[in-house]
Amino acid sequence: MQKTKGYAAPAAKAPLGPFAFERRDVGDHDVAIDIKFCGICHSDIHQARDEWGGATFPMVPGHEIAGVVTAVGPKVTKFKVGDHAGVGCFVDSCRKCPQCEKGIEQYCSGGLVFTYNSKEHDGTPTYGGYSDKVVVKEDYVLHIPANLPLDAAAPLLCAGITLYSPLMHWGAGPGKRVAIVGLGGLGHMGVKIAHALGAEVTVLSHSMKKQDDAKRLGADHFFATSNPETFGKLASSFDLMVNTVSADIDLTPFVTLLKVDATMVVVGAPEKPAPLGVFPLIMARRSLAGSCIGGIQETQEMLDFCGKHNIVCDIEKIAMSYVNEAYERILKSDVRYRFVIDMATL
Ligand code: NAP
Ligand code: ZN
Ligand code: ZN
Repeated sequence: MQKTKGYAAPAAKAPLGPFAFERRDVGDHDVAIDIKFCGICHSDIHQARDEWGGATFPMVPGHEIAGVVTAVGPKVTKFKVGDHAGVGCFVDSCRKCPQCEKGIEQYCSGGLVFTYNSKEHDGTPTYGGYSDKVVVKEDYVLHIPANLPLDAAAPLLCAGITLYSPLMHWGAGPGKRVAIVGLGGLGHMGVKIAHALGAEVTVLSHSMKKQDDAKRLGADHFFATSNPETFGKLASSFDLMVNTVSADIDLTPFVTLLKVDATMVVVGAPEKPAPLGVFPLIMARRSLAGSCIGGIQETQEMLDFCGKHNIVCDIEKIAMSYVNEAYERILKSDVRYRFVIDMATL
């Protein structure tokens, strides 16, 4: 076993603090990674505060992991020492169910193992990326393109793939009007990726504060949802909408902004069920859908796409000890646009 340093939440809603634990030794198919940077996803806050239920403590959050390979098992073929490697939201799956066979392991029905707040198939609790090292089976490790800086690439492992997957699945591209609701960690990646795919991108934000940023990130249009006129002006105008909002909002007015047959994909996962009036769905054959991160193959495709287009996240780099303040600032939408922990400060 290898001694590992990290930061953990000792109980729901308690502040995070230093935590020592052990990682397994490198097995035949394992890759050991020295974690350099880890992004802070809003899901870390939902889980550390047990807003989704069923959380286990102590919890070491973190699923936007970027680092350097320090050792590989004897049967590893895809990685070597010194490679830039990433780990996202899950570290194993059943490999046998129809979803695993199709490469959409994020929907595994036989036992998906999340990077933290979960259990390995042998029952060992998983601990995430707010730590100095991690050992993961090679099939669940990603290559980070060499031209991307590790700090700003780390959040691609969740924020990037969570937007890339629905944008690809629902065909964002030239001639498509795409709305991104909420300009946070996920939303700002949605703007960059949808823009790079050639779509016409509109940001719907709850205030006007981020307008200049949105344009700089690649948005063609920006509207505040706090202004009631926005909904009249944009009625029935989008082919696709991706809603990244982390707070409890009424989805009904957003659905009215879709064209006939268009889809609103929900990726934001607030604590409470969202209200939804069904008439806007019925009256224009609109669809409401959900989407969860992406499979390993698609995550690699997203990283390669970002490497090719030089897309990384806009980050604010922080020390590990700043994490509790960072959580408070995220809850106030006061981050441009992702906090990334520098593990050298651990
Ligand atoms: P984030 O950085 O905090 O961004 C969320 C954005 O929501 C904010 O920037 C803000 O955008 C908007 N917002 C916040 N409070 C609001 C309010 N009261 N009313 C209206 N809008 C509000 O969070 P994130 O890391 O992007 O994550 C967003 C959500 O996605 C979280 O619930 C997270 O758990 C979930 N998530 C889901 C997946 C998945 O696979 N489906 C993956 C990762 C994360 P504006 O200031 O522009 O309004
Ligand atoms: Zn996440
Ligand atoms: Zn499976």
